[in-house]
Amino acid sequence: MRTDGSLRRRCAAVTFRPPAQHRRADSRVRSRKGARVPMIAISVVLSSLTIAAMPQRADSVAYDIRFPNAAHHEAEITVRWSGLPDRPIETRMSRSSPGRYALHEFARNVYAVSAVDGRGRPLEITRPDPHSWLVHGHDGTVRLTYTLYADRADGTYTGIDRTHGHLNMPATFMWAPVAAERPIRITFHPPAGSEWRIATQLAPTASPTTFTAPHLQYFMDSPTEVSNFAERRWTVPSGNRQDTVRIAMHHVGTDAEFDAYVEMAKKVVAEQIAVYGNPAPYDHGLYTFLADYLPWASGDGMEHRNSTILASTASLAENALGLLGTLSHEFFHSWNVERIRPRNLEPFDFSRENMSDVLWFAEGFTSYYDDLTIRRGGISDDTQYAQGLTGTINTVLNAPGRAFFTAAEMSMQAPFVDAAVANDPNNRTNTFISYYTWGAGIGLGLDLTLRSRFPNVTLDDFMRAMWVKHGVTERPYTIEDLRLVLGEVTGDQAFADDFFARYIQGHEAVDYEALLGHAGILVRKAAPDRATLGQAFFQVRDNRLIVTSATLIDTPLYDAGVDRGDQIITLDGEPIASAEQLNRIVQRHKPGDTLPIQFYSRGETRNATLTLVEDPAVEILLYETAGETLTPKMQTFRRSWLESKAR
Ligand SMILES: [Zn+2]
Repeated sequence: MRTDGSLRRRCAAVTFRPPAQHRRADSRVRSRKGARVPMIAISVVLSSLTIAAMPQRADSVAYDIRFPNAAHHEAEITVRWSGLPDRPIETRMSRSSPGRYALHEFARNVYAVSAVDGRGRPLEITRPDPHSWLVHGHDGTVRLTYTLYADRADGTYTGIDRTHGHLNMPATFMWAPVAAERPIRITFHPPAGSEWRIATQLAPTASPTTFTAPHLQYFMDSPTEVSNFAERRWTVPSGNRQDTVRIAMHHVGTDAEFDAYVEMAKKVVAEQIAVYGNPAPYDHGLYTFLADYLPWASGDGMEHRNSTILASTASLAENALGLLGTLSHEFFHSWNVERIRPRNLEPFDFSRENMSDVLWFAEGFTSYYDDLTIRRGGISDDTQYAQGLTGTINTVLNAPGRAFFTAAEMSMQAPFVDAAVANDPNNRTNTFISYYTWGAGIGLGLDLTLRSRFPNVTLDDFMRAMWVKHGVTERPYTIEDLRLVLGEVTGDQAFADDFFARYIQGHEAVDYEALLGHAGILVRKAAPDRATLGQAFFQVRDNRLIVTSATLIDTPLYDAGVDRGDQIITLDGEPIASAEQLNRIVQRHKPGDTLPIQFYSRGETRNATLTLVEDPAVEILLYETAGETLTPKMQTFRRSWLESKAR
């Protein structure tokens, strides 16, 4: 649930401004005492502050969705607003979705839009912009109908076919800014004869097909799976009550595979609860994983307040461990990002891109913990965990992007990279490192720094302190809050300031070799003395070897002027027709050797001289595997870091 300031600005009738905490508190109250409590609270605020501007009743917005042409990926959707002010009503499709930072024009797949008033008279519709519909001449009631085409089941989009309606709300439902604060009631109409049921974090009603949301922000944050899914539930202790975790899984695997997966999920969930001390306070005491593991889904994971979408083309039989990694990541978000909430993502704005400077923490630290809690749950071992760090550490140490942006600035690139679509080429190979990867590397570096430098302080303590200060209270945080809480947890603000200046608002990387050494984990050159031209991708076209990727700054190919689209004609005097040939020539040389290269670029044949460099890649392995001595002190350090906290 996120409140949307820009919605409110456009929403002339709704002039009250309940703060985010107030509205979040409502949903918590509702989860304990039933749906009527916050509705009363909100309507009290409305009537006392805006009675002159508001219609008499804040009528529910009513949605109905039907699937008469599921085979061809269509849904028929009806929205009914009543008690509307006497002026044209603007309705719109969203341009972004909770947890997604780039623009997605969901209006693209909407057609056959029509509207009638309360007496069934057809109404005129005009189009002020590509994502809005203006409905004229109504009598206070508008009943709008449209067709949605949707064939992408993932965390951003909607997928409709004979097997399901996999609904991401912003990709599916039109809304009216004037009614953004009103309660919502939605009825899903499964096709006749189907065994489709409904899984969602929306509030249930007496009817199994009708659900409610307190307002638009909550509704948009509540993806829904309508299908004949399988379901498993278990309980987790939460203070003096029991919360329920369920997995609703639409998949092609067996019950036995599902059960084995649930056993692994239970372990990860328990380890994450142990990090924070308690489950997050799920509304209605229920957390829902909505998993679509189907060849016709698209790979994704997307967190929401009390649920998450897990989508993959892989089956449990093919890749249960990989799928568990996404489950682990998204569940950690039920604390970090859903409730420990960045100030600059709050409220979420459905009309534009959403930008934040703390995704290295919100996404990156979550990525650090997704693998760590799988290790702590005993699902992976020390060797696998150490190997799993290889990609992260190589990227953080060797990718040139670190020189261009700090981790905080890299987070603000999200609107351009987060499932964003663009036609023009970019230089991101050189200028970008994923804030997931870099942030996971910072999380690892900070955890090991805390463990080796401060007695009895770990990253778990930092996460718990953020939870207590900004999660339980749902007081959104800024990057400054993160720095100050690190100072409080360590009792050393100078340390926290220095860490942020170097590694988060600066361009440095921690000393992984020294830090991992405390745990008896070795970081060393994977191929010392092996020469390289630098990383690039090639393709053979008509016996010609073409460079198909940008070349990397500070590598021999880049310095020689070779770029994407160029053809390598000769290296070291030999004609080149394949990448293997190129590699063979490089491998018979040493770093520092110089070789002539001839290449064809933009209509010209060019000659240059390359100086080979040493391959910078590192490998990560346990001391005991590398034949080094693992001391008892290292063993203790490693155990306290990687062993279960839940048992
Ligand atoms: Zn994430």
